[in-house]
Amino acid sequence: MQNILDMNLDQLKAWMVQNGEKAFRAKQIFDWIYNGVFEFSEMNNIPKNLLSTLEKSFRLGLPRTVAKLQSKDDDTYKFLFAYEDGNLIESVVMKYKHGNTICVSTQVGCRMGCKFCASTIEGMIRNLTSGEILAQILKAQNEVGERISNVVLMGSGEPLDNYDNVIKFIRCINMKNGLNIGMRHITLSTCGIVPKINELAKEDFQITLAVSLHAPNDFLRKQVMPIANKYSIKELLGACKEYIEKTNRRVTFEYALVKDFNDSSQLAEELSGALHGLLCHVNLIPVNEIKENELKKSSLENISKFRNILIKNGIETTIRREMGSDINAACGQLRRSYLKS
Ligand code: SF4
Repeated sequence: MQNILDMNLDQLKAWMVQNGEKAFRAKQIFDWIYNGVFEFSEMNNIPKNLLSTLEKSFRLGLPRTVAKLQSKDDDTYKFLFAYEDGNLIESVVMKYKHGNTICVSTQVGCRMGCKFCASTIEGMIRNLTSGEILAQILKAQNEVGERISNVVLMGSGEPLDNYDNVIKFIRCINMKNGLNIGMRHITLSTCGIVPKINELAKEDFQITLAVSLHAPNDFLRKQVMPIANKYSIKELLGACKEYIEKTNRRVTFEYALVKDFNDSSQLAEELSGALHGLLCHVNLIPVNEIKENELKKSSLENISKFRNILIKNGIETTIRREMGSDINAACGQLRRSYLKS
């Protein structure tokens, strides 16, 4: 049975017409769903015979909440959701003064192999459909009891490795009549699949592109990111430049600082040189120490030295606040601890 969340408004309107119903019913149904009503039988402005056809034709594919953890020190919730086939993914909700942000997963696992990431250890199991990604927002809003206004595609999975579903998802959450999440409130994070960045630039989206860079040169980058064997930093930055030219949007570069690996002053200078002249922002992240690898966090002193060098060289830089470290908020850690147990 088809998951109704995988349909967009036009598709459901077309279905209504094909089934002898009025097209406007599609919007009424999505209004209910987007407002947290997940049973067809509770949609009380829909005629009974249509409700029974809907029940026979569609399922509302929401995941089951397996775990909901709330951090003690900040307003972070981490969810472990199970889809109908038993696959587990994580979503994180962060409460900020300017609104609630969700970090969604786009694949079960990931095949990109970044060394500092727990999501990739068992490889990629499958892509999530657009409706399954959307369902993370609907379910999390329901669990937290508040609207989510910002979305980051930064959970497990490489969004650009699941391109069509991700694009459909972005269009869907951006719809005025739907969740109405503005393009500028959506961030897509990629490890740097160059041809897909070029494709994304043509979508005419105003989303923020965040690129995991983690090293200023190919030699170092290849040691932690297998994708660097396929695309050089020169090619990657070239694609980012094109993205900026097409969208007029500033690109964010994520840089996880690892002790004695990529955190020296010399590398900060090298990074400044590589990014010189690009409309960009660098987000420095103290690396997540996971059991499965040896990477250690840089000292606070080195992190601020690194930042100061970038700023001195005219590169806008921030240090990402660590949220929810007591609840395994780093990508993939909670799922792995469940899989193991
Ligand atoms: S950091 Fe992202 S792209 Fe890299 S392995 Fe993890 S989920 Fe995949």
